[in-house]
Amino acid sequence: PSAVPLIRFEKVVKKFGDFTAVDDVSLDIHQREFFSLLGPSGCGKTTLMRMLAGFEQPTSGRILLAGQDLAGTPPYRRPVNMMFQSYALFPHMTVEQNVGFGLKQDGLPKPEIADRVKEMLKLVKLEPFATRKPHQLSGGQRQRVALARSLAKRPKVLLLDEPLGALDKKLREETQFELMDLQMELGLTFLIVTHDQEEAMTVSDRIGVMNHGKLVQVATPGDIYEQPNCRYVADFIGNINLFEGTVAGSGGGEVRISGEDPAGDFVAASDAGLEAGAKVTLAVRPEKMRISIEAPPADARNVLKGEVWDIAYMGDWTVVLVKIDGSEKVVRVSRANMTRTEAQPIAWDDRVHVWFAPD
Ligand code: ADP
Ligand code: MG
Repeated sequence: PSAVPLIRFEKVVKKFGDFTAVDDVSLDIHQREFFSLLGPSGCGKTTLMRMLAGFEQPTSGRILLAGQDLAGTPPYRRPVNMMFQSYALFPHMTVEQNVGFGLKQDGLPKPEIADRVKEMLKLVKLEPFATRKPHQLSGGQRQRVALARSLAKRPKVLLLDEPLGALDKKLREETQFELMDLQMELGLTFLIVTHDQEEAMTVSDRIGVMNHGKLVQVATPGDIYEQPNCRYVADFIGNINLFEGTVAGSGGGEVRISGEDPAGDFVAASDAGLEAGAKVTLAVRPEKMRISIEAPPADARNVLKGEVWDIAYMGDWTVVLVKIDGSEKVVRVSRANMTRTEAQPIAWDDRVHVWFAPD
């Protein structure tokens, strides 16, 4: 990343009346980055994006592009293009007319428009459909027309607001890879808004997780998953087991926790200097948990006993839900971590041990 970020949000606040939609967001996005804003519906993602595009003004704070304050620059003069949630194609225009619309408005000469439109249709693999109208296209094709139209003006930054929301799962996954290819090929900066955590994990260089107008964590997909900085992020991204407890003591890089639900004692690696009596939550990903019918290895720590409550086949992986003794607590364990023998596969109602390492 260069010294001056391409986009800088500086303490940006947006209020609608006395409702705060975007709450003190500071964020740098670098050139050629594929950045996702991720969060549940209503958390302020679109509003943040609309301020960058110039359709809304911040109540306070600044937005800079390559070091220049954007305040006072109208949307059409910003090197930014936004593709909307509904693609908003003109129904009476053909595909090529839709793609060339913005260029025509800008007064580009006709031959140049024709060339650019051709190039864009090639890019999104829609050349054979140039003379069709939107209603003669599938959802995925309409999405690509909208994409071609957004790219035709060669923006520095492409803003995509839930661009794949209307597509079915398989097409959405294909299109995610196409978007990544396109972004690399064009060397553009992409900012995408999504509420789909898998989508954000797949396409992004970095993710900003939002909640109630606040940006709660900004990190790579790997770090968001492995090092969530709060319970909200841990719980929002993927599956996770949460154990509530109280710090009993600490030392040697480990903290001892007496658990509340299920009753049991835990040990976690931590340098956080937690004081005895502090309320804590331990969060463990399913694939970090081990499971077996036989007694666990002698050096196993954080061992819980329970019974298999359900086995959920998710296609390429499987989750075992284990009801822990003495509570309704269900923990999720990936099947990859099952210790099995031919004679004794883990099945419903089996008594099992589950455990996980302090780190
Ligand atoms: P997201 O894109 O994350 O779903 P939005 O940015 O669209 O969320 O909206 C954030 C909050 O701001 C929502 O509660 C929404 O109702 C509110 N909001 C958005 N735009 C306006 C507006 N023009 N007037 C009043 N409230 C708005
Ligand atoms: Mg939105």
